Amino acid sequence: MKFSEYFIPTLKENPSDAEVVSHKFMLRAGMIRKVAAGIYDYLPLGLKMIRKIENIVRDEMNSAGAVEILMPAVVSAELWQESGRWDIYGKELLRLKDRNNRDFCIGPTHEEVVTDLVRREIKSYKQLPINLYQIQTKFRDEVRPRFGVMRGREFIMKDGYSFDASEEMAELSYKKMYQAYVNIFTRCGLDFKVVEADSGAIGGNFSHEFMVLAQNGEDAIAGCSSCSYGANVEKATVSADSYPKNIDSQKYRMEEVYTPDLKSIDDLSSFLKISPDRIVKTVILSDGQNVVALLIRGDFEVNLIKVKNFLGWDNIFFASESIVKESTGSDIGFIGPVNIKCRVIADFSVKNMVNFVVGANKVNFHLKNVNFEDIAAKIDFADLRNIVNGDKCPKCGKGVISIFRGIEVGHIFKLGVKYSEKMNALFLDKDGKQRPFIMGCYGIGIGRTAAAAIEQNFDEDGMILPKPISPFDLYLLSLDYKDTEVREVTDKIYTELKSRGVDVLLDDRDERAGVKFKDADLLGFPYRVTIGKKNLQQGKVEFKNRKDGTNILLSIDEVIGKF
Ligand code: ATP
Ligand code: MG
Repeated sequence: MKFSEYFIPTLKENPSDAEVVSHKFMLRAGMIRKVAAGIYDYLPLGLKMIRKIENIVRDEMNSAGAVEILMPAVVSAELWQESGRWDIYGKELLRLKDRNNRDFCIGPTHEEVVTDLVRREIKSYKQLPINLYQIQTKFRDEVRPRFGVMRGREFIMKDGYSFDASEEMAELSYKKMYQAYVNIFTRCGLDFKVVEADSGAIGGNFSHEFMVLAQNGEDAIAGCSSCSYGANVEKATVSADSYPKNIDSQKYRMEEVYTPDLKSIDDLSSFLKISPDRIVKTVILSDGQNVVALLIRGDFEVNLIKVKNFLGWDNIFFASESIVKESTGSDIGFIGPVNIKCRVIADFSVKNMVNFVVGANKVNFHLKNVNFEDIAAKIDFADLRNIVNGDKCPKCGKGVISIFRGIEVGHIFKLGVKYSEKMNALFLDKDGKQRPFIMGCYGIGIGRTAAAAIEQNFDEDGMILPKPISPFDLYLLSLDYKDTEVREVTDKIYTELKSRGVDVLLDDRDERAGVKFKDADLLGFPYRVTIGKKNLQQGKVEFKNRKDGTNILLSIDEVIGKF
């Protein structure tokens, strides 16, 4: 491909709205352009990278026995009503009506559509297992679209779904996909970690996420210093025995203290001259109907996903001031568990505490020397906080947890019969009995994988793309393409390498050398070959490795021999 005939609108300046490296470089390299919040054009270079990733994904999915299909992006509400998700998916689901006033949505994921297809076409265990996948544009009306295509609203996903006749077979399908994902991300040249994850809105009972380790990752992952344990912080278990027993040998009498305007743990701890781990925070949570008060040690953070799963709620949020007032009779900042009017649950972190501080349910007052005997309500204890640096590993019990940042590029789930039961998707088993399909589902964010690869591979001048997913293998930079000799050598190398299957971008533009060198670095293909008059006098051209920066002079045959 010749640069002059292609469409690569590079930018010299950093775009002001790009917060992360990948977003910045994808815009600067002319790979993507924003159309609306979270909605992008892919320009040729971006699309070429996307296609390379898709091809690796296809190749590994096909090798693992999955079969490609293409389902519609627009999905009728009826299917979503059958699964029950129409009512619980919330605002991320983009809903629309057709001219006959029938409800539809733009698919954010396709469990319903594929389950409907399979229940109509597959009747017997003899036709199982089957694993169907597609590469398709999804839409999720994300609350905070950001970081370019990393968290878009419209984005390309590979989604696959397996259907099995037994638990054992379903386990095997899951393992095959796990391995296929390891192969895919390895082939994409990524440094990643597989972690245990929460199943989220897709549901099911077991899942793993594939995380690309990167500083700008939106996800926090917990890893053990001594065993292989890794889990999304949303999911990572904190062992119940991680806390010291009674710090004070004696229990004191509860008393009220005047704490004017002291609403935060930090303010309270410096005012009372006690450390935050002697204070119990009371947090009021709701799903829109129910309200609970959650108790947690002052220095820890609530894990909303754990709380939601523990309570079996579909939704969860911090209660607004008015809900707090109505359900507890108290004001935010001074809420406490003593004589509170709603259900109380507590994180294990408070279980062994004595003589602690809580809100007094009275403006400007707290209670100190509180003990569980002072709290009338019945309390359910559970693991409801985020794991933190230094926590004991929940798996081996020996190692120490560290928290890393990661970008979730893939997610695999064991769904079981969650969808097949609700949607009455049945097959006849060996004994002639009707059973629901046992399902698994498997997603990869194609655009996000491209962005994640850049987050992991760049320097101040631009991207340093892994070869298997780089739009081109080689940037052939002709310093003076108008010169006959330069042009002849350039064309020779270009034609020869293309015939060898090398993906070459020939920079034939009539631009200053500096502009071309800058663009070459920015686009970050693995190699650059520079052809200039001066070196040609000795029959040499320059061969540069973008990754290690080495730059050597080679003869034309030697350069061709490199590929
Ligand atoms: P997240 O937690 O990041 O919102 P998710 O868990 O909701 O993602 P899944 O439903 O597991 O996502 O979707 C499968 C894959 O699709 C994800 O692993 C991710 O790579 C990709 N993906 C999900 N949401 C987006 C998005 N808004 N933009 C780009 N890719 C996305
Ligand atoms: Mg996920």
